[in-house]
Amino acid sequence: MIRTSRSLFGDLDVQVEADAPIGVSSWFCTGGTADFLIRPNTIDALAELIRRCRQVDTPLRIMGEGANLLVDDDGVPGIVVRLDQEPFKAIETNVDGNLELVRVGAGADLSRTLMTLSRTGLAGLEPLMGVPASIGGAIRMNAGGAFGEIGDAVHAVACLDAQGELQVYPADELRFEYRRTNIVDPVVLWAAFKVEPTDPMALRTRIKEIAAYKKRTQPLAEKSAGCMFRNPNDPSSGERVSAGKLIDQTGLKGHRLRSAEVSPRHANFITVDRGGKARDAIELGDLVRRRVFDACGIDLQREVVVWGRDGSDPPA
Ligand SMILES: Cc1cc2nc3c(=O)[nH]c(=O)nc-3n(C[C@H](O)[C@H](O)[C@H](O)COP(=O)(O)OP(=O)(O)OC[C@H]3O[C@@H](n4cnc5c(N)ncnc54)[C@H](O)[C@@H]3O)c2cc1C
Repeated sequence: MIRTSRSLFGDLDVQVEADAPIGVSSWFCTGGTADFLIRPNTIDALAELIRRCRQVDTPLRIMGEGANLLVDDDGVPGIVVRLDQEPFKAIETNVDGNLELVRVGAGADLSRTLMTLSRTGLAGLEPLMGVPASIGGAIRMNAGGAFGEIGDAVHAVACLDAQGELQVYPADELRFEYRRTNIVDPVVLWAAFKVEPTDPMALRTRIKEIAAYKKRTQPLAEKSAGCMFRNPNDPSSGERVSAGKLIDQTGLKGHRLRSAEVSPRHANFITVDRGGKARDAIELGDLVRRRVFDACGIDLQREVVVWGRDGSDPPA
């Protein structure tokens, strides 16, 4: 069992919570604790923490808004970091005197950011309206949907690498693919976006339309982490197919496993009842995966990141 020593962060400018209930603060509202939740007050403290964790092999994970995360009921070893202090949330317009460039800290809320920009008539991030995310989490996942992806608007991304050193990547060094990027550094620190001055009223109308579409098509009020599985490529045509449709065809829409359910509204959403178990969602996901494989030979890959003490997605 990994033991996390307080000597890793005792002298750093950070806020510390032991046995922190990160599962219930994720969008699933269920799951276990982190040995330590750390909120750095400065970028230097975060960089030093990364270096020290690397030296002693302590897992360090970054939690954004927890909208694509399922924390197993037994919790997660090591350190979970949240970038929710002021130095990580700044929204800066007119970067380097360029009206068409904004820089946003990784800890800033995506929807709040695009609303702030829309008030001054800056367009670019509105296709992401209604996607719950921090800027860092949205970059890591290349969040997007019917109206576009965050990668479309990126001018540059800054990260802290495994040695805690700052790396700034211009857009032409980055690859944004369907729900993934080529960023391997453990922490996204900020992103700069290309924006376009536009009529604020027209922008507001567009944002309302996109929000209404999301509300119509997704069970936003339920406890979930959005789509459980990536849309796979059809092995014969090579075309991307809807995982939701494949799940629907197995007849599992509305299927329940204890506190977890395949959403009757959108078959690629697994939802969990208030007070339910993360394990139920994990097991239901496994059942869905087996049924789809049996039905059409396609092995669905999870889009939701699962953290646990074993068998979970590895830390960055
Ligand atoms: C109701 C609902 C609707 C959704 N709709 C959509 C949709 O339409 N399109 C879509 O793409 N997604 C959707 N999602 C999923 C989710 O919104 C996105 O995946 C989003 O990008 C997650 O961001 P987050 O900040 O919550 O990341 P988290 O869930 O906290 O983390 C996700 C991953 O990103 C990593 N990460 C987070 N922050 C950082 C950082 N600063 N540096 C490095 N790594 C980091 C985490 O370690 C983890 O591996 C939806 C989710 C919900 C609950």
